[in-house]
Amino acid sequence: MPRKKKIVVKIGSSLLANSEKLTLRYAFMNGLISDLAQLQREGHDIVLTSSGSVALGLNMIGKRPEDAGLLDKQAAAACGQPLLMNAYRQIASEHNMDVAQMLVTAEDMEERRRFLNIKNTMMRLFENDIMPIINENDSVATRDLRVGDNDRLSAKVAQMVEADMLVILTSVEGLFDRDPSDPDAKFIAEVEDVSAHLESTTGISALGSGGMLTKMQAANMAQNAGVETIIADGIIERPISSLLNRERRYTRCLVTGETASPLKIWLSNRLQVAGTLVVSNDVAAAVRGGDHGISRENVLSIQGDFVKGDVLHVYDETGTEVARGLSNFSSDETMLLARHVDMPVEDVIGYKTKSDVIGAENILVLEENHIPIDAPEDRQKVVVHR
Ligand code: GLU
Repeated sequence: MPRKKKIVVKIGSSLLANSEKLTLRYAFMNGLISDLAQLQREGHDIVLTSSGSVALGLNMIGKRPEDAGLLDKQAAAACGQPLLMNAYRQIASEHNMDVAQMLVTAEDMEERRRFLNIKNTMMRLFENDIMPIINENDSVATRDLRVGDNDRLSAKVAQMVEADMLVILTSVEGLFDRDPSDPDAKFIAEVEDVSAHLESTTGISALGSGGMLTKMQAANMAQNAGVETIIADGIIERPISSLLNRERRYTRCLVTGETASPLKIWLSNRLQVAGTLVVSNDVAAAVRGGDHGISRENVLSIQGDFVKGDVLHVYDETGTEVARGLSNFSSDETMLLARHVDMPVEDVIGYKTKSDVIGAENILVLEENHIPIDAPEDRQKVVVHR
């Protein structure tokens, strides 16, 4: 048997739920599971990231997608998720396949220990030939702590399991060079540098939270992690086998160049911001020049409530993100150390350690292929007075 592959498949709400009635599309699910069961029989490990809980739960709370607020959606997710899993379990058992549910939050994916724990759970499921079905735990996450779209969530999952392939099934054929309704739009079959396409893609589907933009962001994250992404139409009878047998066109985002180290991948693929630091434009230039950490003297302002080991986003004075790195201190310690630069570290925080807030070995300087994240506007920025 050829080497076993790890494949992450992401299914959008518009494929799972009928857009008018907001009920399950069983025929689609049956075709999908039949394909996935076949792949599993061939020895591959499959993870399914499935949306649909919100769309399927809306009827129960008496709302339409267009007038549902965040709380409605969170309640709908709580109603819809068991409907979704019930259908998956039933259909999978008809194909002699075992499935399991894993609901995760953005925080679970961003915190290293929890990330590794989820990974270990998935590996154990794989050992038992059980397909994990993942969704965001929408009912518990608040607005700013949500991933919000399963496209990027599935890319994090692909990074987590070191997948060979991420397949994002959606309601369009793939990526076009402009709005696909434009008759001159050209289909793009292969993408070498996903980051070059991020700006030209917009648009959100009626039922899901993502659009082509979040799909390209996901493909970018996957590319950074050395995972190939396929974006394809899922409204087709055997959505996966028809792809793998190349019976139709789709967009393939290739893995190019060398894959970065696990730390660099960890720093480049972020879903949310734990804390931010602002440094002077001169320091920013030195950081961009390489081999430069962030010392406590460099810190002009601090935002967020973070702990040692959290990822900090570093901005210059114009608000442009320059770098990201692992913090050696909590936010309170960072503030104290930055305020009292003349005092030894030990006298300020009570224990002896190195003084850099981010060490040069733990920093990622943002390049073209990294998507910058703006500093959150709703969190107070505390200026360091010296
Ligand atoms: N987690 C949401 C759901 O299950 C969907 C997020 C998305 O549309 O990507 O309905």
